[in-house]
Amino acid sequence: MNILIIGSGGRESAFAYKLSKSPRLNQLFIAPGNAGTGQYGKNVDLKVTDFEGIAAFALANAIDLLLVGPEEPLVKGIHDYFLDRDDLKHIPVVGPQKEGAQLEGSKDFSKEFMFRHGVPTAAYKSFDKTNLEDGLAYLETQKLPIVLKADGLAAGKGVLICETLEDAKAELKAMIADAKFGDASSVVVIEEFLKGIELSVFVLTDGNSYKVLPSAKDYKRIGEADTGLNTGGMGSISPVPFADETFLNKVEERIIKPTVEGLKKDNIPYKGFIFIGLMNVDGEPFVIEYNVRMGDPETESVLPRIESDLVDLLEGVAQGDLHERSFTVSPKTAVTVMLVSGGYPGDYESGKEISNIENVEDSIVFHAGTKMLDGKVLTAGGRVLAVTTMQDNLFDALQQATADAGRIFFERKYFRRDIGFDLI
Ligand code: AMP
Repeated sequence: MNILIIGSGGRESAFAYKLSKSPRLNQLFIAPGNAGTGQYGKNVDLKVTDFEGIAAFALANAIDLLLVGPEEPLVKGIHDYFLDRDDLKHIPVVGPQKEGAQLEGSKDFSKEFMFRHGVPTAAYKSFDKTNLEDGLAYLETQKLPIVLKADGLAAGKGVLICETLEDAKAELKAMIADAKFGDASSVVVIEEFLKGIELSVFVLTDGNSYKVLPSAKDYKRIGEADTGLNTGGMGSISPVPFADETFLNKVEERIIKPTVEGLKKDNIPYKGFIFIGLMNVDGEPFVIEYNVRMGDPETESVLPRIESDLVDLLEGVAQGDLHERSFTVSPKTAVTVMLVSGGYPGDYESGKEISNIENVEDSIVFHAGTKMLDGKVLTAGGRVLAVTTMQDNLFDALQQATADAGRIFFERKYFRRDIGFDLI
């Protein structure tokens, strides 16, 4: 098969790595890719939202399958674009159509979906400029802390946890009346705060059957011991030690099955990944959010544990016979540590030369924000590289990933040395 991956981060590097191992793969392309994806396939200089350019490339290169990494092209309808064009509809797209992508693109849509299908999630109400006063009054009836969520995509910044009523009221006004997150906060979901420990579960579905991929936990804060600002993710581990069989059975029965069935009942075709962000509240799972694609950096620790052929699984999604495809997972523990540019998630400099990647022997180095210039690999983003190792137990994996993260050099490199240590 000829496969085109859309995206340029660590997630897409991990997809490219995994697909490149398949004997079923003929040619692999990554648009736009980064300095590392070139070792698994060919980079193509196209923007992820340039649907026309992507379509022209797919036709010219006999692409058999399009795998969409990030949410933006899905929410903007790349799958629908392929289905709507007669010359393109024979090319299957892995990633939902616009309607299914609303599970991530609209918090209000996803909360309604969960309540309609009995999926456990926090109580909520939605408000907009027509009933802002009701929203302010509603806040007075709620317990603190309280969670405010911009309905639309806000680059991971649209969720606020407010500790006081004054703060919550001011933020609700800022979001709805002053467009704090632009159009994304014209509708705001006010949600009950859930106290527990977070983890993520990933599902691959062809719209009928599904495979439950390994669970993972990511570390969002920039500082060790989970302090400081939120980032795109500073590391991840898989599996999650506290997600035992009993807990995962509850997740499958109460959340995964009703989600896949719910999509069917609502006549929402869905082919692709579902990322389910969960809160474990005293052993009971609640959904915090759905994403309609894999997570980054969770993908970097989830995919290496999948022993099955990913080309085969994606073909199962495309052809609607995923239930017939073999699926096995390694019992080993994967740990991913992100190397980031000093200053991130605030201002940082790019264009620093990266060296000594070849010194890393017992981890895979997935490129994220990197670019190639005159044969040199340079930093080109906040999150630069993801270092993933797989070992027999969590402790060994943490040691190895942290040691390997230290072996790579670039000016003002930063990484957390405590990814997963809270779970030992
Ligand atoms: P989301 O974008 O919905 O994943 O929210 C971002 C982060 O806010 C989550 O990863 C949680 O840490 C936190 N969060 C979201 N919803 C809740 C909630 N209902 N209770 C507690 N924390 C939450």
